[in-house]
Amino acid sequence: MNTLNADLHCHSVVSDGTLTPEELAARAKAQGVQLWALTDHDEIGGQARAAAAAAACGLDYLTGVEISVTFLHQTVHIVGLGFDASNLALTQGLQQTRGGRGQRAQEMAADLARIGIKGAFEGALKYAGNPELISRTHFARYLVETGVCKDTYEVFRKYLVEGKPGFVEHRWARLKDAVHWITQAGGMAIIAHPARYKFSANEEFALFTEFKGHGGQGVEVVTGSHSAAEYQSYAATAREFGLAASRGSDFHSPTESRTELGTLPALPDGLTPVWALLAERIQHPTH
Ligand code: AMP
Ligand code: MN
Ligand code: MN
Ligand code: MN
Repeated sequence: MNTLNADLHCHSVVSDGTLTPEELAARAKAQGVQLWALTDHDEIGGQARAAAAAAACGLDYLTGVEISVTFLHQTVHIVGLGFDASNLALTQGLQQTRGGRGQRAQEMAADLARIGIKGAFEGALKYAGNPELISRTHFARYLVETGVCKDTYEVFRKYLVEGKPGFVEHRWARLKDAVHWITQAGGMAIIAHPARYKFSANEEFALFTEFKGHGGQGVEVVTGSHSAAEYQSYAATAREFGLAASRGSDFHSPTESRTELGTLPALPDGLTPVWALLAERIQHPTH
């Protein structure tokens, strides 16, 4: 069960990826993925296309999303899997979460203009396949296009992050709300890439404890954002908190992403994979 090639985290043009849901489904299939989920940021507008494309190429599918949350002054991402994508409370919660992105992007562009980088709002918007979902990734592509940085990794070291030009503090959804939107729609809430956050040990303990208290059930253990040592340390966290373990590349683009779809190692032993608990929510191709 732990060796199933499940890739339960990636992004399409509906958020900040560069491939369409159909292109991702075909790529996942070609990479040997057996169970796939598209998890766009704060948006489930690509779910019907992703599920249809998965069925057409013979891939098992789980609905997916990655919700932006503010917890203890940091942005935390909560992945939702296996929910009913027509659920009203989920749809409305996501719409509300996306709502502040336009204004935030204007403020980011104004901050970049202060150091002489002009036209960043329009430049970023050009890369946004979904104008409701303008994100830092789209700004990063504009800064690469204009030669300010050599790649998006350099952008996220020098710009758009706390303390650097183009960073704008933003209030995302509450942890409790994001977990509830997912669970009341029949899905499972999962803490995305926990090693990426800059929490103290006490703060991280609070995150996991509150998340569980609200009904969260999973944590990403093997992700494109973790090192091999981090697979092991978050495997221990999963066991300690009694959380199921997830696996996902966080693939965004063939040219920008370091981790290809379906190429991560298997989950460490002794963990319950999220897909074991979501068996009834998996959409199987019918033929
Ligand atoms: P946003 O939701 O607008 O804050 O954009 C966040 C996105 O930026 C993430 O989902 C990643 O795709 C991308 N990103 C890439 N590298 C980093 C980084 N070092 N820190 C934050 N975001 C990053
Ligand atoms: Mn992203
Ligand atoms: Mn994320
Ligand atoms: Mn992601």
